[in-house]
Amino acid sequence: MSEPQIIDTKMHGLDGITGAFLFKGERTALVETGPKSSVNNVMAGLESAAVDRLDLLIVTHIHLDHAGAAGTLARKFPEATVVVHPVGAPHLIDPAKLWASATRIYGDDMERFWGGIDPIPPDRIRTIADGEAIDLGSRTLTAIETPGHAGHHHAYLDSETGIVLVGDALGVSPRGIAAFRPATPPPEFNLETCLASIEKIRRLGAAAIWMTHFGPACVSVDDACTQAKEALQEWARWVESARTSSRDLDEVTDAVRAAAREASEGKLTAQDADRMEMTTSYRMNVSGYMRYFDKREKAAS
Ligand SMILES: [Zn+2]
Repeated sequence: MSEPQIIDTKMHGLDGITGAFLFKGERTALVETGPKSSVNNVMAGLESAAVDRLDLLIVTHIHLDHAGAAGTLARKFPEATVVVHPVGAPHLIDPAKLWASATRIYGDDMERFWGGIDPIPPDRIRTIADGEAIDLGSRTLTAIETPGHAGHHHAYLDSETGIVLVGDALGVSPRGIAAFRPATPPPEFNLETCLASIEKIRRLGAAAIWMTHFGPACVSVDDACTQAKEALQEWARWVESARTSSRDLDEVTDAVRAAAREASEGKLTAQDADRMEMTTSYRMNVSGYMRYFDKREKAAS
């Protein structure tokens, strides 16, 4: 039974925050690509794993830290098919909207953080539905629809090891940090669907949870699901409470940062706090929650 190999993309020059997962076999697949800005690290990882042919490039969703290098890798491996959720596919074919949407979050840091994004020809893309399996020969990877972090998002269950690659469905837990931070970016983050997706993952009967940020969860499937849910709910309480006295993003972010540090994140080393922040920042998470609460309020009125 062979576990997938983790390639550290060293996103933003940091270790253990964003992974890509290599399945070598009859057909070779890479799940997640990291951003284009760190594609050379992925290429080096593939080289040291003696990969000269990639059949499949699979992404859990199209955010730039997961799929940003897909177009670049598709050019380097012309035989590879890119597998993506049907909602994500048009944005990999024409990434202009995806880039513009990320620019609203990252502004002037776009180029430095992400390094651009190469479009993918439509005939190189295969869309995949919930429950559909990708055949790698000796094993299959089954797509599990798990929205919430984004409106479109798949986890992937490996038939051979029982490992479920959960993308960002459970949030983030960078290597060496035994805590979950939710990953709740605007504009699509939805708390209810996020919580439902975590329950769906809990019920898969998976042997282990592997996160894109980063690698094997340090606790059991059940505990990981429980802790990820608690983190989502705790952040929701912090944002909701701060939001009653201010609708200013900076002020709410300050309040949530203070609450998170008081609760547990204050115990992180400065370096680990920075790695966590560079994976999914307080400001981005709060912005996602604010937008979610605004939409809920509007729907209720
Ligand atoms: Zn991510």
